[in-house]
Amino acid sequence: MRIHAVQTGQVAIKERQRQGVGRGIARQVNTLLDSRWTDFLPIYTWVIEHPEGLIVVDTGETARATQPDYFPWWNPYFRLGVREQVQPTDEIGPQLRARGLSPDDVRWVVLTHLHTDHAGGLAHFPHAEILVSRREYAAAAGVAGQFRGALPQHWPSWFAPRLVQFHAQPFGPFRQSYRLTNAGDVTLVPTPGHTGGHMSVCVQDGDVTIFFAGDTSYSEQLLLAGAVDGVSFDQAVAQQTLHNIQQLVRTTPTVYLPSHDPGSAARLAARQCVVGTAI
Ligand SMILES: [Zn+2]
Repeated sequence: MRIHAVQTGQVAIKERQRQGVGRGIARQVNTLLDSRWTDFLPIYTWVIEHPEGLIVVDTGETARATQPDYFPWWNPYFRLGVREQVQPTDEIGPQLRARGLSPDDVRWVVLTHLHTDHAGGLAHFPHAEILVSRREYAAAAGVAGQFRGALPQHWPSWFAPRLVQFHAQPFGPFRQSYRLTNAGDVTLVPTPGHTGGHMSVCVQDGDVTIFFAGDTSYSEQLLLAGAVDGVSFDQAVAQQTLHNIQQLVRTTPTVYLPSHDPGSAARLAARQCVVGTAI
């Protein structure tokens, strides 16, 4: 299966967002007040040339995000916690065309979650079927959603995603899952933590499972360390998700691809499984 890593600009966050410090609400505060920034990290999206149609995982960020007033002024996270660099040519639409693919030919867009740097490129896909977990969609609506890092006021007016309700069909260590393709080789699994309705995408490619992780962690090392990020609201839930993924990579050859891991594209190209994976 041909799979493309498409980088839609870059983002810098606080070190303590990558790896949280403290408990409860203090974690969020510690993250915001941290004086140390990460390097600029990629904002990856993924394009899967599947026999049943083109699948895009996350839509990345829009160049509009670099304009003043794009983010709500009253949410301190957008003022204090994040810096983004996105050119118009970085957006997912132009990048698909540059690869000889058309956004209009995309069958499914799967959003791991609705944070701005994953949903910012939605406007390029008016003809695709878009999938979001039911829980994520409910939490991202309205002013409450803007508090949580979503920007529903910028969603296209036509945005009416298929709301994914997971079934009691186990997938490896995950007790629930949602089969996307008829072939059964693309499966969505709930990975709550970073957001309450976060999900990840598992693609079976020969003997290897490619795990499009969204923001379950900011790198493969942090997954293996079981390090919960500094924005997850429920640490125990996030911990359980990391545990499930660790279990998966221990029992199945898995390429683990977080959206903001600078190593993700090279690991995808080499189909490099997580070290320690049973092969
Ligand atoms: Zn996120």
